[in-house]
Amino acid sequence: MIVSIDGPAGAGKSTVAKRLARELGLVYLDTGAMYRAVTLVAMRLGVDLGSEEACARIAEGVELTFDAEGRILVDGEPGEPEIRGEAVTREVSRVSAHPRVRRAVVAMQRRLGARSPGLVAEGRDTTTVVFPDADHKFFLIASPRERARRRAAQLGQEDRVDGVLEEIRRRDHLDSTRADSPLQRAEGAVEVDTEGLGEREVVERMLDVIRARETAP
Ligand code: C5P
Repeated sequence: MIVSIDGPAGAGKSTVAKRLARELGLVYLDTGAMYRAVTLVAMRLGVDLGSEEACARIAEGVELTFDAEGRILVDGEPGEPEIRGEAVTREVSRVSAHPRVRRAVVAMQRRLGARSPGLVAEGRDTTTVVFPDADHKFFLIASPRERARRRAAQLGQEDRVDGVLEEIRRRDHLDSTRADSPLQRAEGAVEVDTEGLGEREVVERMLDVIRARETAP
């Protein structure tokens, strides 16, 4: 079974996808971590992030895998926590907008999907491009302020909600206006508004949808 979940930054995709994967006994695939990892390697090497050619060479050459807990390994080395840092977060939407980078990363994601008996993938284009034929597709939403509050809490920076809000608005804009695979709700994706809901409540709603569909005649 493949479940794909898209939505903007801070909508709760990763916590919800991890928990859903656990409940369903599936593998969790964090596609954002892969774009972050490419960005991290590009920054370490000091390449021009505006150059599609340079970034694509990195995306085509790097080996991205995941450990048993679903954490990314970059050429076999842990990518956490560096891929979550401010520097990578600031630049990742520029790197992920390059079509050749996306082609390389999507190909890796599909290979991981083909090798796995079942997975829960989350990101910006997993319902529209990577796994458009997923068994179950979801689109998570919440207001920008709520998303900023959650992200700031996750980073342990509750006093920086306004700064995080600005960063989220900037990434929302870049991710949803880029020419290649912009963030959008896929046809057939079930929208879940997570505003004010806890992780468990969101997962329960999604499980209800999945169970209802799986048992439908
Ligand atoms: O989900 P996360 O915040 O880790 O994603 C980081 C960035 O990676 C996003 O802002 C977006 O630019 C890019 N991304 C993407 N397609 C995906 C997942 C993430 O372009 N499927």
